Amino acid sequence: MAVMLQGIPASAGIAIGPAFFFEPAVLNQEPLSAGCAEDPENEWYRFTLALDKARDEVAALRDKTAAELGPEKAEIFASHLSILKDPEFLAEVRRNIFESHKDAASAVRETGDMFIGLMKQLEDELFTGRIHDIEDIVGRLVLHIAGSEASSLALVQPSVVAAVDLTPSQTAQLDRNLVLGFITEEGSAVSHSSILARSLGLPAVVGLGSLQALAQGTTIIVDGTSGKVILDPEPEMLMDYEKKRRVYELELGLIKEYAGKPSLTRDGTTIEIAANIGSLKDLEAVQRNGADGIGLFRTEFMFMDRTTMPTEDEQFEVYKHVLSRMQGKPVVIRTLDVGGDKQIPYIHLEPETNPFLGLRAIRLCLQKETLFRTQIRALLRASPYGKLRILLPMIATLEELKKAKALLAEETAALKQQQIPISDDWELGIMIEIPSAALIAESLASEVDFFSIGTNDLTQYTMAADRMNRSVAYLNQGLSPAVLRLVEMTARAAKAQGIWIGVCGELAGDPDLFTLFVGLGVTELSMGAAAIPRIRSRLSKITIGEAEHWAQQARNLHSSEAIHTFISGVFS
Ligand code: PEP
Ligand code: MG
Repeated sequence: MAVMLQGIPASAGIAIGPAFFFEPAVLNQEPLSAGCAEDPENEWYRFTLALDKARDEVAALRDKTAAELGPEKAEIFASHLSILKDPEFLAEVRRNIFESHKDAASAVRETGDMFIGLMKQLEDELFTGRIHDIEDIVGRLVLHIAGSEASSLALVQPSVVAAVDLTPSQTAQLDRNLVLGFITEEGSAVSHSSILARSLGLPAVVGLGSLQALAQGTTIIVDGTSGKVILDPEPEMLMDYEKKRRVYELELGLIKEYAGKPSLTRDGTTIEIAANIGSLKDLEAVQRNGADGIGLFRTEFMFMDRTTMPTEDEQFEVYKHVLSRMQGKPVVIRTLDVGGDKQIPYIHLEPETNPFLGLRAIRLCLQKETLFRTQIRALLRASPYGKLRILLPMIATLEELKKAKALLAEETAALKQQQIPISDDWELGIMIEIPSAALIAESLASEVDFFSIGTNDLTQYTMAADRMNRSVAYLNQGLSPAVLRLVEMTARAAKAQGIWIGVCGELAGDPDLFTLFVGLGVTELSMGAAAIPRIRSRLSKITIGEAEHWAQQARNLHSSEAIHTFISGVFS
């Protein structure tokens, strides 16, 4: 019998096909001989993966026990969780790995032994129970360290991929010729897997809740526009959705002619419609959809799925390739934005309680200067090959911007001294994606050539709602009145200083909401390449005066829903 599910629409379109349930497989890894680690960073990474799994498991056990047997019985798991978060415990594991060069499992065992030894010395009955807790935790961690995740995303036939969640690198691994679409239990419309789905033009629905009952090969219908998913559909449902799929594709075909047209409003104003990319693989879609440039190259993807840092020369080759391939069209390359949900194993990061509020993006780059300097040098060396715009992510203060600029100036001077050619007319911009940056946009504007608004993070941080958490996904949907005001403030500051402003968050590619940005003075919109023809077609139907008028009306509305209803109404 058909099962209907409602999730969060993440990427428009309809996919119909057999399910491929992706479960990260477990590989047994032999412990390193004599417990010695050759690569502490890797051991620390294996430990952090195990730690995450253990924390999730224990939290789930705690909740289940509390529900079934009452809160008292659940206390034991609360206590296990507190050990898994204990800074002293974590610091000792870390010391064992980095200073005593132990492999992850030995480091955990030795830490456990040390804690147990200390408790025994205290000869207090109270601690006897605690000793069992530590033994339990050590056992759980070692078990997880012994198995490490392996990707089994190799599809053998066209399939709809189902998963608990897909990390950005797993999404990037999907075979584009065989994946029809995907559905996930977790996630929100602005998690990075959703963003990638849109840029690949893959229908996707996320945040569906448990899919554990789904059998491999079950036929699935994914409606990425409405967020509906049907498992094992009845024959008439299949026919109905097959029709819808054809209509959608026909419509896409009609819009496609806009791939080759200029990006003009009805009254002839040019708005740059650019593409967001994560790797060189995306360039084909950029060209196919006729992007006016690259408005966001998320360089962090280049650092993922490898075990060592890309060298300056490797990075230089990639940047040079993108710039040359775009043949003089502008290319915005964002400096490394890791942290949050984007982790890189070999950049050793301390575990953080709130990674999205932690050492992410420019914060990390300013702390790990060598890493930043390497990327800057590669970018500057590539600058003569096209129209380069360097973009700094997650700027929160003027001081951060000045520090980054000082490093850029130092590397420019050093390259010039070495007589390495660099262009004089590359531009520098910052992402406006933290409310503090929008609030001080005026002082930031005098230091840069452009702003690019990251609506994904600007929404997340304004609403204090984790963009990965499906329980609060409703706060990350659409354009809230609060974010609209921050965009307006930013645009006003940019205008006052005479710099241009773009939007590269997901809302830039929303077929209705983009008009409000244009109405506020945004002159560049950057989106997943697949969205370009539709936005360009819509742009050709409006005038700047209309967009300004709608933006003024929208700013008086009091909810995301009201804004959306209003602006979608103007097109119908
Ligand atoms: C954003 O935050 O809107 C953005 C474009 O950056 P990312 O999604 O990579 O955080
Ligand atoms: Mg961001």
